[in-house]
Amino acid sequence: MVYCSQCGEKNPDGAKYCFNCGAHLIYEKDIEDDSKKSVPEKSAKGVEPSLKDVKLVGDDVEHLESLSKENFQKDMDTLKACNHEIMDLVHKFNNTKMDKNDFDGFLQDLIDEIDSKIRALNKELICVSPQIVSVTIIQDKENPYKINITTNADKDRLNKYVETLKARLQSKEAQENLHEAIPSNPNVNSEAKNPPKTASWRDRCPVCKNGTLSLCTEKKLFGLVNESELRCQHCGAVFTQKGQNYTLSRVSDTNNPAWKNYGKQALTESEWTSIANGGMSQALQRTSDLNNWIADARAGNVRFTEPASPVILKKNENAVLVLHNIAFWEPRAVRQTSGMYGGPSIRVAKGVSFRVGGMQARSESHEELRQIDSGVLTLTTRRLIFAGSKRTINIDLKKVLSIEAYKDGIASQRENKQKTEYFLNTDKSSLNVTAHGNHYDLPVNGVVLKAIVEGMIKQL
Ligand SMILES: [Zn+2]
Ligand SMILES: [Zn+2]
Repeated sequence: MVYCSQCGEKNPDGAKYCFNCGAHLIYEKDIEDDSKKSVPEKSAKGVEPSLKDVKLVGDDVEHLESLSKENFQKDMDTLKACNHEIMDLVHKFNNTKMDKNDFDGFLQDLIDEIDSKIRALNKELICVSPQIVSVTIIQDKENPYKINITTNADKDRLNKYVETLKARLQSKEAQENLHEAIPSNPNVNSEAKNPPKTASWRDRCPVCKNGTLSLCTEKKLFGLVNESELRCQHCGAVFTQKGQNYTLSRVSDTNNPAWKNYGKQALTESEWTSIANGGMSQALQRTSDLNNWIADARAGNVRFTEPASPVILKKNENAVLVLHNIAFWEPRAVRQTSGMYGGPSIRVAKGVSFRVGGMQARSESHEELRQIDSGVLTLTTRRLIFAGSKRTINIDLKKVLSIEAYKDGIASQRENKQKTEYFLNTDKSSLNVTAHGNHYDLPVNGVVLKAIVEGMIKQL
């Protein structure tokens, strides 16, 4: 394979012109042969321009202390832009009609211009050393008044930057994981997990948990590391960079659970690292943590920080939850009119986001639901108390027969009371929840409130 010096296209060995852009292809052998032949050829003809091979290299100034993913990416972009500018200069040069006697002068100008572009990198590059860049100017073999140019990046040195960067990101991640593993709310029932020994996802592919991911090298002139794609050497999974996130864009086996859960999803590096180590994405982690929390609450295993109670508590009674702006609804019998029952505004549960427990649509076919009052709903360890402007409802938890969960509240049925009592708008309030060491803002929807009430009933 031979790479085109103009556009970077891969061409089969032996090809004379680039398949993609038509530029003359340069073989390293040619360069050597040329330099060997140069002296006798020149002396024989005597009129040809003197240039044979000029190599320009950047200065060695690096700023490792500024090496970060963002800065490295910026430097890569700077180098690509510089490469394009140099290519433009050469293109312009080759298309300039000039007197053959002026060739050497024009060429020197070109070399100076390229050189100043490379010197400018001293200022433009943030962390990477300009020395990784080298530009070789070669006289065309067939037309001595045309020049070809090869730009190169020192790949070994680039890889060292990448390695340094990876090591830094890993140690940063390890610290963050350690921090997250320590629950900060001692009131909440949650065992401290030992900080897991995590490997960066780049060292443990989240798909096969076996291979390591490597940055793909672009087939561009600079041979620069392409930060935009990571590929697993073991299973072939491809992760494409999207800003700060990486999207799992391809796998060889679409039955892989990682593909099923996260295919085409853009996740952060720390999420991929968590997945590679048997964890989950933030969204799945949240659902899982909250479902566990709800199950704990239902079993009566969650302890709540006691809120100030708006109602007077009895002996051995503690306030658990106080919800404001609660609407109290009750069914009212309605007369049938024109063949239809008066339409209650039934709000159908939408956006069911919890797997535990279902939410149902309210339907009272022979009755109409009416809002009766609004006020404060207080759950204690023994009662559910609604204090409205017109009415106070005092429900002894021992007398509760059933609770139904809705998206925006609960309906309760109790002994010696025929009518179902609806407490709605509970989901406008939320609860600070710590689960699995993570903190969440959990809206008190029907499922959550029902679980908490059931947990209290269990503890009676
Ligand atoms: Zn080409
Ligand atoms: Zn893999």
